[in-house]
Amino acid sequence: MKDNVLRKLQVLADAAKYDVSCASSGVSKNNTGTIGNSSAAGICHTWSADGRCVSLLKILLTNYCVYDCEYCVNRLSNDVARASFTAEEVAELTIEFYRRNYIEGLFLSSAVEKNPNHTMEKIVKTLLILRHQYKFSGYIHVKAIPGADKLLVQQAGELADRMSVNIELPTEKGLQLLAPQKSMKKMFLPMKQIKDQITQSKEERMHFRHAKRFVPAGQSTQMIVGATNESDLSMLTITDQLYQNFSLKRVYFSAYVPVNRGGNLPALSTAPPMLREHRLYQADWLLRFYQFDAKELLDEREPNFDLDFDPKMIWALRHIHEFPKEINTVPYNELLRIPGLGMTSAKRIFKQRKVRAITYDDLKKIGVVLKRAKFFITCNGQFYGVKSMEPDSIKEILRPAQPFEQLQLQLP
Ligand code: SF4
Repeated sequence: MKDNVLRKLQVLADAAKYDVSCASSGVSKNNTGTIGNSSAAGICHTWSADGRCVSLLKILLTNYCVYDCEYCVNRLSNDVARASFTAEEVAELTIEFYRRNYIEGLFLSSAVEKNPNHTMEKIVKTLLILRHQYKFSGYIHVKAIPGADKLLVQQAGELADRMSVNIELPTEKGLQLLAPQKSMKKMFLPMKQIKDQITQSKEERMHFRHAKRFVPAGQSTQMIVGATNESDLSMLTITDQLYQNFSLKRVYFSAYVPVNRGGNLPALSTAPPMLREHRLYQADWLLRFYQFDAKELLDEREPNFDLDFDPKMIWALRHIHEFPKEINTVPYNELLRIPGLGMTSAKRIFKQRKVRAITYDDLKKIGVVLKRAKFFITCNGQFYGVKSMEPDSIKEILRPAQPFEQLQLQLP
């Protein structure tokens, strides 16, 4: 590898580490005659110790940025090492890494170099070289740069597997405070375009086998947790809206890592709120798979998650009047809402009780976490929890012996 490319790689791989929206999934292709088989390789993503995705070549195209977002290490006003790949360099690197079996695909993000169109053109050029010149069929996830021409976004979407527009902050107010060159409206435009073109492509492919695919693995976004003092309710409400309005595949949360000093930012000594990030991911799971909506989990009176308990447990304690539920008769959608029961155990219960009544011992074998579930169920009419059914008593019994540590933001 040439020295200058190696230096760029060091700068631009390091600069990409704050972007977590790079997990890959949900794409299968017929790759006959090309290289890079996303199905056979499984495009599985692995996660480093700090939760970052590492199985893709994850780089920025450039970290020269004309924007000055306060939270970002690459902002215009920062004095950091800068570099910019050419499209040819990114394509060659990807192929070299792929052939050496280091990676299964590419995650290409970018700062805004010169302007959105210039950056998006470079992204499209990279994709064209990879797909057409190198015949690379491996997984590719790229950024759609808000403000770029629709045609460029379309071209990228016809070549990439996944695209993302990072929303970064959950409210317009937060954006105005830390990233005034951005706006929700500007970010929603490419999101809507991607959603519409995915739908159109799916419809066309139902009728015409050779119709163009468009972002087959869907679109995602990322939000920073803790750069501003917005509540979990704000974050989860916008998450819910993004799933509903733009059919997003995933919303990623990224605990804010203080890298800059600034009057509107948490102090540099503030630890990233990893536990809060974890609770948001648990809540996101409830939105996507358990038919909860944001307003059921949090409200204006309690706009943040209790860090000692998972969101489903807190929801159940706040709705204690609905419990206990008889495990042998409760409808499937209500089974899913019982703390200690996951989707797999709910399905097993549902299947088994068609054959015979489930006993308390069966529940252990099925994989139910009875330590939690026993306060919320009866089994053949028998209750195994504490008789008072007081949320505070249940909390005291279940409270972790060592409280989790959550460092506070020190906003001025
Ligand atoms: S546009 Fe992106 S790279 Fe540029 S300063 Fe903002 S967050 Fe950083």
